[in-house]
Amino acid sequence: MIMNLNSTVTLNNGVEMPRLGFGVWQTSNAVATDSVRMAIKHGYKSIDTAKKYGNEPGVGEGLTRGLAENGLKRSDIFLTTKIFIGDQGYQSTLDAFAGQLKSLQTDYVDLVLIHWPVPGKYLDTWRALEKLYRDGKIRAIGVSNFNIIRLKNLLKHCSIKPVLNQMEFNPLEQEADIKAFCDAHDIQMEAWSPLGHGSALTHPVIMGLAEKYDKTPAQIIIRWELQRGIITIPKSTHEEFIASNTKVFDFELADADINAINALDLDKRSGWYGDWQVFGNPNGKPTAVENRD
Ligand code: NDP
Repeated sequence: MIMNLNSTVTLNNGVEMPRLGFGVWQTSNAVATDSVRMAIKHGYKSIDTAKKYGNEPGVGEGLTRGLAENGLKRSDIFLTTKIFIGDQGYQSTLDAFAGQLKSLQTDYVDLVLIHWPVPGKYLDTWRALEKLYRDGKIRAIGVSNFNIIRLKNLLKHCSIKPVLNQMEFNPLEQEADIKAFCDAHDIQMEAWSPLGHGSALTHPVIMGLAEKYDKTPAQIIIRWELQRGIITIPKSTHEEFIASNTKVFDFELADADINAINALDLDKRSGWYGDWQVFGNPNGKPTAVENRD
């Protein structure tokens, strides 16, 4: 049920994960500390970071201070981080994760994702995450930016299946084939850049719906993601947006309006998703390397 910031999805290992969380990409340590404190103050129960963002120490500080300032305990917040491309491999993941725990000022992480699938390494990275999961250092393990080829390969070789796949998802980028694959395999979808990194906020259809429902464009998009069953983690550094992005539980989009947003999908990257940060191919066609498992 989509009720409030405490509303969760039950992941395939039984862990409850908040449906609406908070992202911190492209924020410095100092800004991340303040953003996380503000997010906790405004009731967010889930924070998403990554070693690649360079702000795990700032997030850890914000988490520690935010919990104290609001009379909360560590288990009240669901914390996600990710394994950096350069750390992938079995022992290197174990070593990197130990450092990430220290940076984040915590002795466990709720969810750890393979940030990007590095061919030839991501299965070893996964084995390390399985060990950390079995050792009780991580409550759930998942992936990010995995296309269907990589998901299939991982499912063939893993002993613990990923709980979710975090991928770019917003009105303009819906990755329908990956979503269908994840649905069929009980892998939860989570949206990164859920507001299109800001770009979807000015789409005329979104602005029209904002006027119709007397909501902001961001609230319309976040609500659409929640009603689509997608976990979403909008980011902002402004307290006004951090607060208003949570006001999405007092209205419901009609089916016709959900469908109107569904129809905005540009379907640019389906099926080969995910290698441009590794191999430098921002908008190119799939290549043999991108399609290998
Ligand atoms: P979003 O889609 O969340 O958009 C963030 C942008 O929208 C910022 O410029 C923000 O501005 C602006 N914004 C937020 N709320 C509002 C509002 N109510 N009105 C107007 N503007 C608003 O972008 P991100 O790319 O940051 O994605 C969210 C999170 O997803 C990241 O922070 C990160 O945690 C995760 N992510 C994961 C990736 C992966 O590979 N796994 C890749 C990319 C992101 P401002 O900050 O100035 O307030």
